Amino acid sequence: MGATENKVNVDGAGLALGTSGFTPIQMAAAYSTIANKGVYQEPLSFTKVLDAEGNVILDADEVRDTHRVFQESTAWMLVDMMTDAVKTGTGTKAKITDMTVAGKTGTNSDYASVYFAGMTPYYVSTLWVGHDYPINKLKKGSSGGNEAAPLWQAYMAKIHEGLEDKAIIDADPTSLGLVKRTICPVSGLLATDACKGDEDHKPVTEWFLVEKAPTAYCDMHVTLSICSAENAIATEFCPPDSVSDVSYVLIRPDNPLYNFDDEYLLKALPNAVRTELTTDEFIASMKTCTVHADGSLSIFELKTKSQDLIQQVTDYLNTANGVPQDMSDTLKDDISALQVALSGYQYSEIEPLFEKLTNDFSALQNAMAQQTQDGNGG
Ligand SMILES: [Zn+2]
Ligand SMILES: [Zn+2]
Repeated sequence: MGATENKVNVDGAGLALGTSGFTPIQMAAAYSTIANKGVYQEPLSFTKVLDAEGNVILDADEVRDTHRVFQESTAWMLVDMMTDAVKTGTGTKAKITDMTVAGKTGTNSDYASVYFAGMTPYYVSTLWVGHDYPINKLKKGSSGGNEAAPLWQAYMAKIHEGLEDKAIIDADPTSLGLVKRTICPVSGLLATDACKGDEDHKPVTEWFLVEKAPTAYCDMHVTLSICSAENAIATEFCPPDSVSDVSYVLIRPDNPLYNFDDEYLLKALPNAVRTELTTDEFIASMKTCTVHADGSLSIFELKTKSQDLIQQVTDYLNTANGVPQDMSDTLKDDISALQVALSGYQYSEIEPLFEKLTNDFSALQNAMAQQTQDGNGG
């Protein structure tokens, strides 16, 4: 693209825009190669040389170096990406009303210079801001998006006045062998519903060459409904306000992330889980919520019923006359055992104690009814 190797700054950040030794004209030639569907055209400062009679002695178009650098499909994808960068990315300040703009910002890490390279359906232009000697810095925090893009926009908007908007590369991407795929940014594979549950790494839709497009689905994301009572898979009995979708990212040993320090891994992927299990095995290995599981009563209903029963039995024992001592003791023991269980949320612990108190209480009521009958009879 006209970028000869000795122009590339190899001592620092290398090729990144804004830090390399490219001149703006070389940069413009490179970007026009993209806009020109992948065909490089040598930048020229003249179009024709004519003699005194007006005969063409030199036609720039015939002598300039022109050759294909990359496929039209590649150029199309680059334009698509750079259009997004101006629409919603770092280059938004280069937007021109009613005109398609694609571009890329360049920001030097130590504010030595900033860059904006942009294109429209009509022109490519690059703009570099900096000092002759990089020892002189721009103001701290300068960026290609904030300093170079607005300047670029100011003169480009003027020369596009009255021009009709059109595509930068007017081609149907499908006919270029491209396909659109929604992929998971973590695995790089086709996104699943589970990937959509990861708020921090939402699936992205991108264009791919047909032969390079991913065909397998992401096997790293698992999204499960988790009940907070036990941090376990929610059941239909779990109350909605304790249930939320949690997205796990399964990191297998063959993934480079597997060997990352937790500090780095968990910063990028807070729900990362190192595992050798398949997705199905992982789900099967998860505990199901036992707090709210099992039976027709939810734990909260069971607890309420238990409290009511304790109150009812206590009232009865306080008011009834002639309760046999052994039965009274049994019921009091039942109540204290149930109260201990009620301090937790284990359905399986509360339920049998609730049943025992229910049974012992009805046994007492039966005995008392019998006693009354006997008394009346005697
Ligand atoms: Zn995924
Ligand atoms: Zn639950």
